Amino acid sequence: MTYDVAIIGGGIHGVGVAQAAAVRGYKTVLLEQYDNLAEGTSSRSSKLIHGGLRYLEQFEFSLVRECLIERSYLLKNAPDLVKLTPVYIPIYKNSKRTPLMIRMGLSLYALLGNLSKDARFKKIPKQEWESLHGLTQENLLAVYKYFEAQTDDSLLTLSVMNSAQDYGAELILNAKVNKVLLEDNSNKIMYLDDQGKINELKSKVIVNAAGPWASHIVDNVQPEQKNIQVDLVQGTHIILPIQLGEVIFYIESPHDQRPIFVMPWYGETMIGTTESIFNNDPSKTSPLVQEVEYLLDAFYKHFPKFRDHKFDVSKKFSGLRVLPRSQKNANQRSRETIYLRDRKHKPRLLSIFGGKLTAYRATAEHVMSYIESSLPKAKNQSNTKELKLSKPS
Ligand SMILES: Cc1cc2nc3c(=O)[nH]c(=O)nc-3n(C[C@H](O)[C@H](O)[C@H](O)COP(=O)(O)OP(=O)(O)OC[C@H]3O[C@@H](n4cnc5c(N)ncnc54)[C@H](O)[C@@H]3O)c2cc1C
Repeated sequence: MTYDVAIIGGGIHGVGVAQAAAVRGYKTVLLEQYDNLAEGTSSRSSKLIHGGLRYLEQFEFSLVRECLIERSYLLKNAPDLVKLTPVYIPIYKNSKRTPLMIRMGLSLYALLGNLSKDARFKKIPKQEWESLHGLTQENLLAVYKYFEAQTDDSLLTLSVMNSAQDYGAELILNAKVNKVLLEDNSNKIMYLDDQGKINELKSKVIVNAAGPWASHIVDNVQPEQKNIQVDLVQGTHIILPIQLGEVIFYIESPHDQRPIFVMPWYGETMIGTTESIFNNDPSKTSPLVQEVEYLLDAFYKHFPKFRDHKFDVSKKFSGLRVLPRSQKNANQRSRETIYLRDRKHKPRLLSIFGGKLTAYRATAEHVMSYIESSLPKAKNQSNTKELKLSKPS
């Protein structure tokens, strides 16, 4: 039996492509190396469904707009999983961005969000600053409030796979792909199962959605393929056993003025993230001592009333961003998704590099448009823009 679309990787991109392919009526299979989905980056993100206010500074307007459109679909289609949450941006005397810059950024953000009610923002009057959960008011010039959405990235990934399975997609867990053979009439994937046995399946098109392992998959394709140069950049989050309310704070690191989120997370407070170049096996990410200190410093600076708490920071996790290799700082590099095909016409293999949790559906639709020339005519059963997603039980 030959599949139409075989996908390597059960993170948000893999399941998104599985859903997009299955609703078009394609015989679809997804292979995941672990015994669960979302064991890679898709359970280690900041869990925000957002346009990415800070990407405006890199002029990534189309990315921000696409993410804001996707946010509106997710708020409509996955109300149990994606919740609008207020975000406060405090601006201090020595902040990198002035109140005027933030106001301009938020205005542009609202415009890119079609001026919808979810894209609105306002300045918080000084007399209300006291109610901001202990945020320091020393040298505080202004506080803006706007909205982003939060999700549980693992649950979102599971729910998209459930939706793909409703349309007939198959899932094979414990399937570690170790070789891809491209042959015009039957591309093959070789994978190891949990018994160490080698299995093989055939597919008209193969989508490599292996996230931080994507380059490794490309290196194991025959005939040999051109790869692209990427850096893996680790981002760490810590979780503190305190509650600051159902609001997010968008603060600046006192060390390098990078933006950091302080977010509610299942009754506790999650703080992230960092950017450290990572040169190891992607399965070996782990928070560094200096990353934990960096996050705590930013938190204490903004919430000094917690400074004397001796927090046990045992809850922490790290994920890997896949960014184009460059001399620039990680936070100045493009966040646009890169699609690498073995050939332009009738591609047999497409690899996804980078991307955003928020835009997974749009990414999957782009993938489908790139690979459709290799597939029979689609028999659309639905449109992913309208598919409801529910919390997995
Ligand atoms: C610190 C951090 C914070 C982020 N925050 C946000 C955010 O708030 N909002 C947002 O929109 N985006 C965010 N992102 C980006 C987003 O999380 C990622 O773009 C997304 O999760 C990547 O998903 P993926 O499916 O490409 O990769 P992954 O989730 O890593 O999935 C790849 C999968 O492939 C599997 N795999 C690998 N090799 C093989 C193999 N040989 N055989 C079979 N399976 C294999 C892995 O086990 C894994 O399950 C963040 C990223 C990071 C690193």
